[in-house]
Amino acid sequence: MISPPEAFCKVLENVARLPVVSLPLKECLGRVLADTIRADRDMPPADRSAMDGYAAGAADLASCPATLRLIGEVAAGSPLRPRVRPGTCVRILTGANVPPGADTVVMVEQTSAKDETVTFRAAPKPGENILRRAENARKGEVLLPEGTVLSASAIGAAASSGHARLKVYGIPRVTVLCTGAELRDAGDRVGIHQERNSNGPSLCAALAVWGYRGCRYATLADNLDVQTRRIRTAAARYDVVLVVGGVSVGCYDYVSRAVEAAGGKTLFHGVAMKPGKPLLMARFGRRAVLFGLPGNPLSAMVGFHEFVLPGLRRMSGLAAEACRPAIYAPLAADLTHKGGTQRHMPARIRWQPTGAVIEPVESQSSADLVAGGKADGTILLLPQPKVLPAGTLVEFRPWRPLVI
Ligand code: AMP
Ligand code: MG
Repeated sequence: MISPPEAFCKVLENVARLPVVSLPLKECLGRVLADTIRADRDMPPADRSAMDGYAAGAADLASCPATLRLIGEVAAGSPLRPRVRPGTCVRILTGANVPPGADTVVMVEQTSAKDETVTFRAAPKPGENILRRAENARKGEVLLPEGTVLSASAIGAAASSGHARLKVYGIPRVTVLCTGAELRDAGDRVGIHQERNSNGPSLCAALAVWGYRGCRYATLADNLDVQTRRIRTAAARYDVVLVVGGVSVGCYDYVSRAVEAAGGKTLFHGVAMKPGKPLLMARFGRRAVLFGLPGNPLSAMVGFHEFVLPGLRRMSGLAAEACRPAIYAPLAADLTHKGGTQRHMPARIRWQPTGAVIEPVESQSSADLVAGGKADGTILLLPQPKVLPAGTLVEFRPWRPLVI
């Protein structure tokens, strides 16, 4: 048995970033940039109007009201460059290049136009309403450093600097194998001696919510040969194999033996935490890693978020410190932790006008999927006993991305 921090280090030590792939922008959301994105030209590339209005020389408008002759128009996308000479102005629209001779844009709301003339009511500040060439970035400047997690706005920055495809780290291919003679699918009839397979759908959904979509699960019998065969095949085809159930010490728990029989090398088996203690990690050469999660649904969810997800995120290119998402927020109610072992208490996040608060969810045991269904993540409680009054900041490990 090892401590949770030791297990976490083993996970990070035993996974490697996957090879870089080039993807079109529409497939880059949530991926980690494996390249440095620079501006391909000044941003903006020319002085541009920030408003709909009139471009003029500020010197002509030093005392207002003043009337200037309208000599043309430049709309966004127009290549026209009518020269603004003293006594004249040009109609300009937001995003259009400021024509030569003009140094100021006056909002249309501060003017009145009649025939071929425009009257300006108040003297503008010289340079008003102009976005200066390169004020956001100079050509060649770094817009997005390597390691950036590609958000919607980061994808916008890449598009705006001429990048239609990006080099990103690959993401792992994952499969889930559920073990248990008692398991039936949600749509099947069940006897009183049987259990519905909740971990299969739940883990595939947890993978999807963190960006690992399209994962499928299979259900296996409690049989050493069957498990050995399926694990061997899965380890050859996938980067990460999740086996759920059968990792403990019961006489039908074959997973640890099946892993070794299939050629896996066990890295650890047993982590000092509740729930999730029987957790197992193994390697298959340099190719694949396998996690064995306990079958109780809350144990499986906790084990997934504590160790599997960080491994997947590291393989996907995230920095080690960003691999296990956590936020600090105040407790909504008093909480007493008896201590002894590290615990992960199911909890709900409640959004209030002043921010998030964390509300513990009462659970009967690690089999309590009713509590699991109400939870958004867990509160981390370290082994030391603690009395935590409402309002205490706690570390919350979310089960879906919140702001991360
Ligand atoms: P195990 O880890 O195989 O000893 O299973 C522990 C408990 O979790 C048992 O009550 C199992 O029936 C239950 N369990 C195991 N796998 C699943 C699953 N895929 N879905 C729901 N419950 C499960
Ligand atoms: Mg079992």
